[in-house]
Amino acid sequence: MPSFEDKLVKAVKRKREAEGLSIRSLSAEVGISFSTLARIERREGQPDNNSKIRLLEWLGQDAEDAGLQFDNVAFVHFRAGKNIRSSTVRTLLKTAESLRQSLKSHGGSQNQVDGEDYGPSGNVFRSKEELEGIAEKFRYDLGLKKGEPLDSLRVKVEGVEVIPARKTNHLDEQTIKRLGGNSASEWSAMSVPLDSENENWAVLMNDWHKVERQRVTVMEEYWHILLGHKLTKIARVAEAYGRTYDKAEEHDAFYLAAAVLLPKPAIVEAVGKNRTSKQVAKVFGTSPDLVEYRIKRLGLWREHTGKLVRLSPN
Ligand SMILES: [Zn+2]
Repeated sequence: MPSFEDKLVKAVKRKREAEGLSIRSLSAEVGISFSTLARIERREGQPDNNSKIRLLEWLGQDAEDAGLQFDNVAFVHFRAGKNIRSSTVRTLLKTAESLRQSLKSHGGSQNQVDGEDYGPSGNVFRSKEELEGIAEKFRYDLGLKKGEPLDSLRVKVEGVEVIPARKTNHLDEQTIKRLGGNSASEWSAMSVPLDSENENWAVLMNDWHKVERQRVTVMEEYWHILLGHKLTKIARVAEAYGRTYDKAEEHDAFYLAAAVLLPKPAIVEAVGKNRTSKQVAKVFGTSPDLVEYRIKRLGLWREHTGKLVRLSPN
C-alpha cells in the first residue's frame, strides 16, 4: 500500500505538471525551498510536517481526491496539555471548523501563508523591559490605576470573539459534552483565525477551568493576536497536525498575560511587604503559581523566599 508520503508526492507532481509549473515556480508558490521541493519529488528522504502541510494546502481538493486526509491539518492555536487525547483534539478541530463556518465574516481562504518558511515575527525575543512597557501601556489604555487588579475576562478586543464553551450557542450539546468531562483537563483554549488576514478570531475558552486560570489563558490568546503572531509553526498534537506559534512568541504572549494581570509595581510592593504568593493571588484573582512566575521573572525570588546572603570572613 502506498504511504501517505507516496500519495502526497504523486499528487503534487501530477498537479504541478498539469498546471505547467516548474519546481521552481511551485517552490515560490508554496514557500518551500527549491532544493527541498526537488528532493521531495525525487523521494529522497521524507518531507517534514511543515512541507507536508504546505503541499496539502496547495493541493486543496486534489488532496482529498488522492485520498490524503486534509482534516488532520488545523489552522488553530491550542493551549493544551501534552497528554491530550486524540479524541479531544478531533473534537476541537471539528469545533474550529464549525466556528469558522458560522463566524466567518467574508470569504478568502485561511490557508494562505505569506512569505518564507517562517513568519518574520519568529524567534525574536523581546527584552523584559520592552515587555513590561507593553503591559504597562495596555493597562493604561484600559484606564487601570497602577497596581489595580484586572479581570481580563471583561476585556474586549476588537475583532476577537471569545466563546466560553459551556455558555455558547455555537456548539451543540454533544460537542460540549465531549470537550468537558474527562477532556476538560486536557485543554484550556483554542484560537481560530476567521480570515486569511488574521484580523478576526474566535477564541474558544475552556470555562470548566477556574476563572483564575481562564484569566491568564484568555490574556495569552489576546496577546498572540495583538502582537500579530502568525500560526506558522507546525506542531503535532495527538495525531493531528496544527499550526501554532513559535517558542519566542509563546514566551512573549505568556509573559505579557502575566504582566498585565500582575503589574510590576504591585509585585515589587508585595514582595517588600513579605506577602505570600497566595495572598497576592487572592487580591489579583490569579493562581499563586502565576504570582510566583512573576516574582521569579522580576528577579525577586530571593527576597520573596527570604534567603539571607552573606560574605564569609576572610
Ligand atoms: Zn500561546
